[in-house]
Amino acid sequence: MLGTGGREHALAVGLAADPSVTGLFAAPGNPGIGTVATLHAVDLGDLAAVEALAVELSVDLVVVGPEAPLVAGVADGLRAKGIAVFGPSKAAARIEGSKDFAKSVMAAAGVPTARSRTCDSADQVAAALDEFGAPYVVKDDGLAAGKGVVVTGDRAVALAHAAGCARVVVEEYLAGPEVSLFVVTDGTDALPLVPAQDFKRIGDGDTGPNTGGMGAYAPLPWAPPGLVDDVLATIVRPTLAELRRRGTPFRGLLYTGLVLTVDGPKVIEFNCRFGDPETEAVLALLATPLAGLLYAAATGTLAGHPPLSWHSGSAVAVVVASAGYPAAARTGDPITGADVSGVLHAGTRLADGVLVSAGGRVLCCTATGPTLADARTAAYDLVDGVHLAGSQHRTDIALAALEGRVRVP
Ligand code: AMP
Repeated sequence: MLGTGGREHALAVGLAADPSVTGLFAAPGNPGIGTVATLHAVDLGDLAAVEALAVELSVDLVVVGPEAPLVAGVADGLRAKGIAVFGPSKAAARIEGSKDFAKSVMAAAGVPTARSRTCDSADQVAAALDEFGAPYVVKDDGLAAGKGVVVTGDRAVALAHAAGCARVVVEEYLAGPEVSLFVVTDGTDALPLVPAQDFKRIGDGDTGPNTGGMGAYAPLPWAPPGLVDDVLATIVRPTLAELRRRGTPFRGLLYTGLVLTVDGPKVIEFNCRFGDPETEAVLALLATPLAGLLYAAATGTLAGHPPLSWHSGSAVAVVVASAGYPAAARTGDPITGADVSGVLHAGTRLADGVLVSAGGRVLCCTATGPTLADARTAAYDLVDGVHLAGSQHRTDIALAALEGRVRVP
């Protein structure tokens, strides 16, 4: 398993729990992942080193957590060496690596998404902002580690963001609740996971700047009946078919970021990997053995895989972030209380044997319960049990859903 974050800790816990797994290795992992896997200090930017490690360990399957190595082509190199990989090729990973590419696939496949203009100059940006009006949505065309999108009512802020990017996609603002739908696919067959919702802004009530994600819950009590089937039919299957038609089938996790608008679900983004922190919540509910599922997708045998089975109830994940995140995360602060089941490590490291913060998002406190209220209480109990000086967390994860305040137009 490749990666270092809370998503990867959740994947590692799921893989380790699969009885078919006889050995689990993580590169580079983190101290939490180290409790369930053997860690190997390999830089994921060094694709040759990743391939060499997989060969040396003669692994049956490589599960890729983050997008950057996929967009750089890690899956292609591993497959060329005969190793099964859960994660798309470089060509298919462009669905996340370039917003413009994703828009062209959606246009060709007739997939509902926000109207958009790809802009290479300030004049084009200004014209597109005026065409769509406020609120303005400006997206860096390339990978930007969750910081590439600005949604603002302030035209000057929108222009300034665009000026800092080589190429941007300006698009129409979509109003409605957001849904993250993860789909495990071998390029042809597709198995959807339970829909989840994440919380992008740093502050309660969706205030402040965007982050990598401050919390999540699943499933969605307010989701319209038939939502998943509808999204598979109108969005996922046409997208997979278009990628096949182009000769670049997508094998791995297609993350479909949706807004439920008055006109139905529309795509705001595709990602080429599991989302963080929705993965922590979704995998906590998955009863199907994870390694077998991902192996079937990696080897093109999903058609023969049994239907997914799920634990009943709900899951809630609450991120504990460092002081100063997201503008300037402080690192190196000691952490206590993190050695507890459900406290997933997102940005931690050991310094002389002491667990310290090593990133913006430090821990992801994840719990399940028979009801959403129970899961929420249990997740916040985990938050209360950890200590990190100056840490921040949202207090309203899953609250609007619990109080029946999420409205689907
Ligand atoms: P992304 O990095 O593409 O996930 O975008 C970050 C966040 O910006 C999303 O989670 C949405 O909250 C918001 N966003 C992106 N595109 C749109 C859009 N077209 N309309 C409204 N909000 C958007």
